[in-house]
Amino acid sequence: MICLGIEGTAHSIGIGIIKNNNGKCEVLSNVIKIYRPEKGGIHPREAANHHAENIADLINESVDKSKVDFSDIDLVSFSQGPGLGPCLRTAATAARALSLTLKKPIIGVNHCVAHIEIGKGTLENCTDPVLLYTSGANTQVIAFAEGRYRVFGETLDIGIGNCLDKFGRNVGLGFPSGPKIEQLALKGKKYLELPYSIKGMDIAFSGLLTAAEQYFSKGEKLEDICYSIQETTFSALTEVTERAMAHTEKNQVLLGGGVAANKRLRDMVQTMAKERGASFYVPTKDLCIDNGAMIAWLGSLMHNSGTRMKIEDTNIDQRFRTDMVDVTWRD
Ligand code: AMP
Ligand code: MG
Repeated sequence: MICLGIEGTAHSIGIGIIKNNNGKCEVLSNVIKIYRPEKGGIHPREAANHHAENIADLINESVDKSKVDFSDIDLVSFSQGPGLGPCLRTAATAARALSLTLKKPIIGVNHCVAHIEIGKGTLENCTDPVLLYTSGANTQVIAFAEGRYRVFGETLDIGIGNCLDKFGRNVGLGFPSGPKIEQLALKGKKYLELPYSIKGMDIAFSGLLTAAEQYFSKGEKLEDICYSIQETTFSALTEVTERAMAHTEKNQVLLGGGVAANKRLRDMVQTMAKERGASFYVPTKDLCIDNGAMIAWLGSLMHNSGTRMKIEDTNIDQRFRTDMVDVTWRD
């Protein structure tokens, strides 16, 4: 089966084409365009306009790169939620148009579940991991239990990527700030105390963000602040992930989301895994960030396990929760 997936939950519009080879995911193409506001944060309407302007060209580029024809595509899938309303609607509209034009079935998928399935589909031996999903808007620790992907812990306010980007914006680093903070943190030496707030299995970042900004106004070195932000937030994320692993008795951990590109985060989670005798997995960068291939892959899994959607079922859901999905494709 060949599936074309459209990802459009937030600042990226991505098209991916995958082939489902008996349960293994072969990525045939995976192209993406990222909306970068000139200043300020992401404005949903402007991001959606960006997606609308680029989507047709991206679909053509994706088909060209995959070396398949439009007529070879068996299924169209798209990110149904969670995400920004205007962006989701743009991706869904394109998916509906493509499905009707090609006369091929359509499936809307949950974006967070796609992050976990793409790791399982592309990484050897990664079969039942706890996912630490760290992206701009979302931060969740997810694992499979009793028929669903359950959220064991999550941010109570802003996503980790959002926290890094907001801090960066306020100190003039530009968007996205995560990679710049990572570079600056390498030169940091002094650890500055920041609020470490884990509530149960959930995490909050906004208090830390305020405290970090106060250090900046007091004239602390930016390198030291970046270092301290990373050490504090990543430790908290690693702690919650470890607790989820202990609770579920799983011995695999998988990273996903744009912040998973960060070497310090990878090192911390890998060290934790090693100490528990668990395996550590991280997909290639193009499959970690928001991308169409993961949407295509989950679409194919759902379709193969019997899921069917009519056009009327393809309304987007901005608050589509990870644990709302009935996981029919695994036992
Ligand atoms: P996503 O929302 O999954 O597409 O990921 C985007 C987020 O990843 C943005 O908030 C970026 O700042 C963040 N990000 C990307 N690369 C890095 C990095 N090397 N370190 C930390 N954060 C990063
Ligand atoms: Mg994502």
